[in-house]
Amino acid sequence: MLPANKIYMKKGDKMLKIYNTLTREKEEFKPLEENEVRIYTCGPTVYYYAHIGNMRAYIFMDNLRKVLKLNGFTLKHVMNITDVGHMTSDSDEGEDKMNKAAREQKLSPWEIAEKYTKAFLVDLDKLNIERPEIICKATDHIKDMEEFVKKIVENGYGYETSKGIYFDTSKLPSYGELSKANVKENKAGARVEVDNEKRNPLDFALWIKAPKEHIMKWDSKWGLCYPGWHIECSAMSNKYLGHQFDIHTGGIDAIPIHHENEIAQSKGAYGKGPAKYWMHVEFLQVDGGKMSKSLGNNYTISDLEKRGYSPLAFRYLTYTSHYRNKLNFTWEAMEASQKALDRLKDAYQTHLKGNDDIPDDNINEYRDKFVEALNDDLNFSSALAVVWDVIKLPTKSKKVAKLLLEFDKILSLDIDKKEDKKDNLDITEEVLNLLEKRKEARKNKDFVRSDEIRDKLKKMGYIVIDSKEGQKLEKAN
Ligand code: AMP
Ligand code: ZN
Repeated sequence: MLPANKIYMKKGDKMLKIYNTLTREKEEFKPLEENEVRIYTCGPTVYYYAHIGNMRAYIFMDNLRKVLKLNGFTLKHVMNITDVGHMTSDSDEGEDKMNKAAREQKLSPWEIAEKYTKAFLVDLDKLNIERPEIICKATDHIKDMEEFVKKIVENGYGYETSKGIYFDTSKLPSYGELSKANVKENKAGARVEVDNEKRNPLDFALWIKAPKEHIMKWDSKWGLCYPGWHIECSAMSNKYLGHQFDIHTGGIDAIPIHHENEIAQSKGAYGKGPAKYWMHVEFLQVDGGKMSKSLGNNYTISDLEKRGYSPLAFRYLTYTSHYRNKLNFTWEAMEASQKALDRLKDAYQTHLKGNDDIPDDNINEYRDKFVEALNDDLNFSSALAVVWDVIKLPTKSKKVAKLLLEFDKILSLDIDKKEDKKDNLDITEEVLNLLEKRKEARKNKDFVRSDEIRDKLKKMGYIVIDSKEGQKLEKAN
């Protein structure tokens, strides 16, 4: 028997259902072992700040955790930190991301990884995202990866070339099962093949022989090497969760290459795919298009804060769309979400002060609806609609406030905490431009200019504080 969370555990059509990318079906969730759900999440590549698209993926991960717990499950959840370089593209080509960042920022790859891992964890906290039980770094598991590669080779699924060890996809008839159509397209030769040593165009690197200039490399059976990107997730999930676990999560971009290759590696080593359920979160777009550094729209959580928005208002924004749908970020939507969150907090306070009575049956009905929405493949938008129905009740009651707090255990919006609203700072485009110019001046060590801008901002009512995370604004008294 499951250690049912007495209040919420539902039977039949109320049971938790999740969409499984592997079967393309919404399935009733049944864990492999009764008491513990084992989950693996592909973590960040720590060569730069995580953007709000990445954070959508981690909010999704946290939502999943909280809904599973609500259903009475205990969790063993692993998330990796990719702190070893892999190539700029998924297909092992181009310059290594960690190497590139290290070169550009004049830091070692280890320093780069440390800097951005810290920043990532700060963002998790700001968004009330619980830490998975195990967070593991790729660089701490190089030997586990080498062993995994050896096993694949021993089983006849890997071969050596002058560049490294490759997975032979032709040995695995099921290769492509996760992405289905996409792989067929690739097989038809959509990609230009440059490596003649590879037996098949879709074969991918498991272990790469390090060129001289490559900074991160380790001694191994095959000389100085570094791991292919996909092997780290296979090795770490296998180490902490066993050959097969319950749920693997990630963004949809991981389906056709990274996750397909994780499945191949696990089958090559242990004869079965690593996860029973695969869950993927759709992309966040900005102004209806792709986020990118070159467009300057790969916003971070700090960017939102600089404009006076609370990170949790962004969390709220993610609830306005189902995780399997695209989410379009605009500043108008951000503003609307901040306002909605502020209203939610106010409404909570109103109910808290209320003395009206409300029948328990009504409360239970709303709770059931809320849980039903969540159990329907994590439908947070529907759950949020229930929250608004509750808030709008004309009856103002402490019982309602208590129910809202219960909901907030899942929503994680801190509805009972009064918003600091960043001291009501109204940060205009002009202020943002001045901050940008000051940042530039400081980068060029033009401190006279930097101080001029600081004084100008002070006259406008803002105090600039320089912190490790950059410039922060406070209201001048
Ligand atoms: P990365 O650090 O690039 O490995 O990405 C970390 C996670 O964020 C992965 O699960 C990606 O699939 C996911 N991701 C990247 N871009 C977006 C986006 N725009 N929207 C949602 N998820 C994303
Ligand atoms: Zn992964």
